[in-house]
Amino acid sequence: MKVLVIGQGGREHALVWKLKQSSRVCEVYCAPGNGGTAQVAENIPYKETDVQELIHFVKEEGIDYTIVGPENPLLDGIVDAFHRQGLRIFGPTRAAALIEGSKSFAKDLMQKYGIPTGAYATFTDMDEALNYLDQQQAPIVVKADGLAAGKGVVVARTIKEAKQAVKEMMAGKRFGEAGTKVVIEEYLEGEELSLMAFVDGEVVVPMVAAQDHKPVFDGDKGPNTGGMGAYSPVPHIPDHQINQAVETILKPVAKALVEEGRPFQGVLYAGLMITAEGPKVIEFNARLGDPETQVVLPRLKTDLMDIIEAIYHHRLDQLELAWDDSAAVTVVAASEGYPGSYLTGRVITGTEEWLDEQDVMIFHAGTREEGEHLVTSGGRVLSVTALGEDIASARDKAYHVLTTISFDGMHYRKDIGQKALNRLD
Ligand code: ATP
Repeated sequence: MKVLVIGQGGREHALVWKLKQSSRVCEVYCAPGNGGTAQVAENIPYKETDVQELIHFVKEEGIDYTIVGPENPLLDGIVDAFHRQGLRIFGPTRAAALIEGSKSFAKDLMQKYGIPTGAYATFTDMDEALNYLDQQQAPIVVKADGLAAGKGVVVARTIKEAKQAVKEMMAGKRFGEAGTKVVIEEYLEGEELSLMAFVDGEVVVPMVAAQDHKPVFDGDKGPNTGGMGAYSPVPHIPDHQINQAVETILKPVAKALVEEGRPFQGVLYAGLMITAEGPKVIEFNARLGDPETQVVLPRLKTDLMDIIEAIYHHRLDQLELAWDDSAAVTVVAASEGYPGSYLTGRVITGTEEWLDEQDVMIFHAGTREEGEHLVTSGGRVLSVTALGEDIASARDKAYHVLTTISFDGMHYRKDIGQKALNRLD
């Protein structure tokens, strides 16, 4: 089978890596890919949103399955476009992906179907939003309605700060169209958890849980990023709470989407807060998380292609997933200045010597090949995943590998997984 992965981040490199292990996959392509996918697959020079070019390539090359990594093409309707051409593609339609594309849509859906989430109000008028804030208490959360690459959320410590965020989003047009509507949301206190599931309509098969680290600096300081590291499992969150999230959140939302005429096929990601009242939804994503994928896929023992085909043929309910008991930790190495502006083109050394190591995976994101060199080309440059018998050993291994890799201005958090270790103590 020939497969095409769409996207260029660490998540897509992990997808390519996993698909290469399938006995049924003979060739893997990646569009546009990165310096890491170039080493194990064939990169195709189309952007994730070049839908017509991608369709043309898939037909010419006889690609059997296309797998979509990022959210933008999903919300542009790439799955619908492929379906119209009778081509096989893994991911939700535009209508189903709206669960990620519009926070107000997701909140209204949760409210209608009684799915636990924080109280909220939606505004298209700035003055009304500001007046509403006068009656609220801080902390409070302000979110741009549409996609903003993880940067459209402000957790405000004071009402003044919340008002400032509303003004920036709605008057400053900092987020373009995405900010013309804002959701103001109750601040939820607790432990964050990422729970992803393979979904086909009402059938929900959860993956192992993971925890992300969004702020750029140690101790969760500094601005939010796309994610600076992750680990799985999350040993200090008990199974019964994870099962509760599957039963009260993932299954009901999949059913709700079917009832709304937007059946979901693909990976549904629930960003959760485990509160004193149980798990509540912070957000849904319509695809795999990045960097969660880099710790979840290495623990998946089942052939990923079997899962994708089972979803396509509506027999996901007959599939039992197998997971490795190992723990996985991934640490993201970023460019100097990230998540602000940063320079690219810096030579990266040290990644090659880990290529044959069983328990270490270096998933590239912002890298490209330039002549004989591997150079930086993005904010998040690569993530080092290590497997170990527990979080502590996986973490030690990942940090050891990082000491052998370098590029000018490289920075990474030194405390990925630390929270889990502290809680276990
Ligand atoms: P991404 O798609 O990159 O994951 P996003 O822009 O959709 O991010 P959210 O995940 O909704 O943003 O929020 C970003 C972060 O803000 C969360 O990981 C969480 O730490 C915090 N946050 C969001 N909503 C709340 C809330 N209601 N209470 C407390 N913290 C919140």
